[in-house]
Amino acid sequence: MKRAIYPGSFDPLTFGHLDIIERSAKMVDELNVAVLRNNAKNPLFSVEERVSMIKELTAQMPNVTVSTFDGLTADYARQIQATIIVRGLRAVTDFEYELQIAQTNHVVNPQVDTIFLTTNLKYSYLSSTIVKEVASYGGDISKFVPEAVVQRVYDKFNISR
Ligand code: ADP
Repeated sequence: MKRAIYPGSFDPLTFGHLDIIERSAKMVDELNVAVLRNNAKNPLFSVEERVSMIKELTAQMPNVTVSTFDGLTADYARQIQATIIVRGLRAVTDFEYELQIAQTNHVVNPQVDTIFLTTNLKYSYLSSTIVKEVASYGGDISKFVPEAVVQRVYDKFNISR
């Protein structure tokens, strides 16, 4: 049984995240999308709101589960017996940081390896931060996030469409 974990903030989930979920779920028996409980980041959505959106959007994917975690990804991977950490790479700027994290995780938990999926070219510019920035000015975010997420983001900024 090959279990992988895809950790992140997902504040909110974008088409870029969804693409990584769809592609990596095909490579493993079970993919656990793990939302980091990180109060320091001052998120737009609560962890519970993020989990509920991700569950809704992955409902048709039978081997995808959603959970939350605290602390080190490598420790959480050990806890749920996942041996693979999935991360997405958008640009070289992601690489240095991701490499450091991957190596640290492997030292903390030698049973775990990180695999990187390169971003789909269509979404290489896309980040949750950009979505929030565009939405805060009332811009169209329908090309960035699934329909189920669009209105929830506008609601946070008190924007009606
Ligand atoms: P974090 O705060 O851990 O970076 P994010 O929610 O921003 O969490 O991202 C989670 C993962 O998804 C990271 O591996 C990130 O590189 C990847 N990711 C984010 N946006 C995209 C995208 N547009 N294409 C591919 N991967 C992405």
